[in-house]
Amino acid sequence: MDKNNKSKNKFVAFMAKVRDMFCKVMFPEDIKCIFCGTDIADFENKPYCDDCEKELSFNNGNKCLICSEPIDNEAKVCDRCQKNKRNFKKAFCPFVYDGVVRNSILAYKDSNRRYLAKSFAKFIAKELTDAKVAIDVITFVPLTDKKKKQRSFNQAELLAKELGKVLAVPVEDMFVKNKDSKTQKFSSYKERQQNMIGTYSVKNRKFKKKENVLIVDDIITTCATVDYCAGLINKKVANVYVCAIARNKLKSK
Ligand SMILES: [Zn+2]
Ligand SMILES: [Zn+2]
Repeated sequence: MDKNNKSKNKFVAFMAKVRDMFCKVMFPEDIKCIFCGTDIADFENKPYCDDCEKELSFNNGNKCLICSEPIDNEAKVCDRCQKNKRNFKKAFCPFVYDGVVRNSILAYKDSNRRYLAKSFAKFIAKELTDAKVAIDVITFVPLTDKKKKQRSFNQAELLAKELGKVLAVPVEDMFVKNKDSKTQKFSSYKERQQNMIGTYSVKNRKFKKKENVLIVDDIITTCATVDYCAGLINKKVANVYVCAIARNKLKSK
């Protein structure tokens, strides 16, 4: 290698370093693993590191065809969905709420890591496109004004907006949360649903009979919230689907 080439290579390496440093300053979150913050090489294709990949709780085992809850046996539909007719057609949740996924969702909502919405949205979008589900409009589970002010953003709304960008589908604000319900223990799903009455309402909007609506939330635990919101609109449209980053696996009763 002649001297010229050597200095040229040095220059190229130097410029790559400058570019990396520039990226780190300008887009600090975009080159780090979304789960642990380690630097990674190919963020666009895989926004997490190899170590986290091993720990990721993908919701890809046997799961309920309706609510997406992981099922330990071979059943197609979980006990809860067999007992309670859902107001939505199907739930899409790429992860199980556990481990590094749980930590990063908590960091997203409670530590204001808003940039994570973009990556989470990509995982959800993949679930929807793999299932070939057609969505006409995306909406989200609202927060009360008080809660939104406290958190400074609605985590489900931001997720919906990022998902709208990925899927090229419009996002509309359809629901209002009227009050924050107290955390209570309910003995049955029916009681939980009863307690929801009046908590959410639907905005004045022209619903179309042929519309397929997707309701976005961050986590689905008992399905009570998404199911209640779905119930406010499911008679007005063709289909209501719901989605979240992760599905909580409930203890079997
Ligand atoms: Zn990682
Ligand atoms: Zn189910």
